[in-house]
Amino acid sequence: MNQEPKGFVPLSLAELDTLTRLLSGLLSTEHPPVIIPGEAILGIEAMAAGISAPGRTFLNVVTGPYGSLFGQWLERGGATVAEVRVPFDEVVPAERIAAAIGQHKPDALSFVQAEVVTGGSNPAGEILRLARRHNLITVLDSVSAVGGEPLPVDEWGVDFAAVGAQKALAGPNGVSAVSITPRGWEFLESNGNAPRNSILSLLDLKPAGNGTAPVRVPPNIPTLEARALIAALTAVEEEGLEQVIRRHERAAASAVAGIKALGLAPWQKDSRHYSTLTTTVRISGEQRLHIARPVGIVAPGDGELFGQLLRINHFGANASRICVEEAIATLAGLLNQDAGPALGAIRLVWEE
Ligand SMILES: *Cc1c(COP(=O)(O)O)cnc(C)c1O
Repeated sequence: MNQEPKGFVPLSLAELDTLTRLLSGLLSTEHPPVIIPGEAILGIEAMAAGISAPGRTFLNVVTGPYGSLFGQWLERGGATVAEVRVPFDEVVPAERIAAAIGQHKPDALSFVQAEVVTGGSNPAGEILRLARRHNLITVLDSVSAVGGEPLPVDEWGVDFAAVGAQKALAGPNGVSAVSITPRGWEFLESNGNAPRNSILSLLDLKPAGNGTAPVRVPPNIPTLEARALIAALTAVEEEGLEQVIRRHERAAASAVAGIKALGLAPWQKDSRHYSTLTTTVRISGEQRLHIARPVGIVAPGDGELFGQLLRINHFGANASRICVEEAIATLAGLLNQDAGPALGAIRLVWEE
């Protein structure tokens, strides 16, 4: 009888190599990103824990709840944290950051590139140009930007960028990545308080130096999630990253056109800085838009934003014309309106 063993095949070095290559390609970086054995928020907390220390000054930008949390984690590490905060229906103007850099003379600048919770996208390219001019270490939460807008890590000189696959990349949420420049590694290594022997330790995950390939697969990488991430990133590569971004841009532009045709307004104020992953809809006095739970990709606001806005979550596999059409039909239904004109407005954007 054939007694072939059945069961679980561990991740191979070839698969690890493929995953690393796909992640580097996604971020346009020559420095292999660290694979984080958990959801993206783990990589984000690990960045804060690894870089914060008494005597270091950070400029932390808060345009939504994730930026707020990052500032708290930096403070926990003993750093001086200066905050630039804007109302969550606005993004941060680069001029505000320039002024704060002059005032606080920080060592590093941290911000969330784009926010699905608020529907805003910060002017990352402009902010990073400023950071380069002042030689600041830069730290980005790009979980809700990657795949929806450009993130050329090396060109922009981003020292730390945390990414996950479960938003625009239609991938798993159980494994994520942080890309780190050589300068970023120095910033971690020169911090006596950076965690070691801890789930929050980026230093424990540092790949062997001098560009040598790993000789074994780190045992902490979750195998099934890593395979799912390879599958998602391979699909992105096949569609083409630019096309994935374009699809998100269209989804957002068509959702905005649709809500305007229904007589509604985006919650975000500046039309040049909408997220391409979510469109947030201002509720104002419109009682019929108060929904308690998600209907398809239309969801109520999170936390403090509940009751202020509705979110249309057109990202990942839902960044499509049909999903936006369904969402706008849902809103038309809530408003008791004919969806026809709004669906026409959506069609125009996709046929452009
Ligand atoms: C979704 C999101 C996260 C958290 O990602 P998880 O993988 O769910 O932990 C962090 N930051 C931003 C900006 C996000 O949108």
